[in-house]
Amino acid sequence: MDFIIAPPVPPSLPIIGSDRRFAIRRVFCIGRNYAEHAREMGAGVDKSSPLFFCKPADAVVSDGADVPYPQATADLHHEVEMVVALGGGGSDLTPEQAAALVWGHGVGLDLTRRDLQAQAKAKGHPWDVAKAFDHSAPVSALCPASERMPDADTVLRLGVNGRLRQQTRLGEMVHSVPEIIAALSRLFALKPGDLIFTGTPAGVAALQRGDRFEAELEGMARLQGKIV
Ligand code: MN
Repeated sequence: MDFIIAPPVPPSLPIIGSDRRFAIRRVFCIGRNYAEHAREMGAGVDKSSPLFFCKPADAVVSDGADVPYPQATADLHHEVEMVVALGGGGSDLTPEQAAALVWGHGVGLDLTRRDLQAQAKAKGHPWDVAKAFDHSAPVSALCPASERMPDADTVLRLGVNGRLRQQTRLGEMVHSVPEIIAALSRLFALKPGDLIFTGTPAGVAALQRGDRFEAELEGMARLQGKIV
């Protein structure tokens, strides 16, 4: 095919223990998936109606890369989250079918322009400008599910400049991974390569230029970077 503008190279992530890469198709995110974080944001948890939003695939930043402080905000927040990578797809899945799609796991930051999010919430506007900006999704290398699976006691944590900011057990999630995937599959035809950010625990706070972050999905994945 003869394209007027050369198609971009697909965004991708490294795979732990492999030279091959995971091509990213889309990035889905769930909000308010840890009760204590929902409370700190002044919101409740609605178990029957999960809140979803998206980021563009090219917002993903690889482990170790600098993250530019974004334009148009004075309140950039970190949200550490487990990231699930799908190896298969489908629509209207049961939680059992959904669980079988998981290819691997990583750890990521759902970076958020909190001031723009507060304005959007107040006006009833969409969250895109608060969530879907460039470089808004640093993600670690992926740990294949064939190698290791997280469980309810797996710890997710984030340190900034060597100080612990956020920490939880995955068992604190409101919606489990199979429930999240099944719910998304009732809204979108999921595809191989889709990533899902599974929500953040309490402790979200501001990042400044010069801050170094280190996120971990214990025993599975690590993510480091610097805000510049
Ligand atoms: Mn989030």
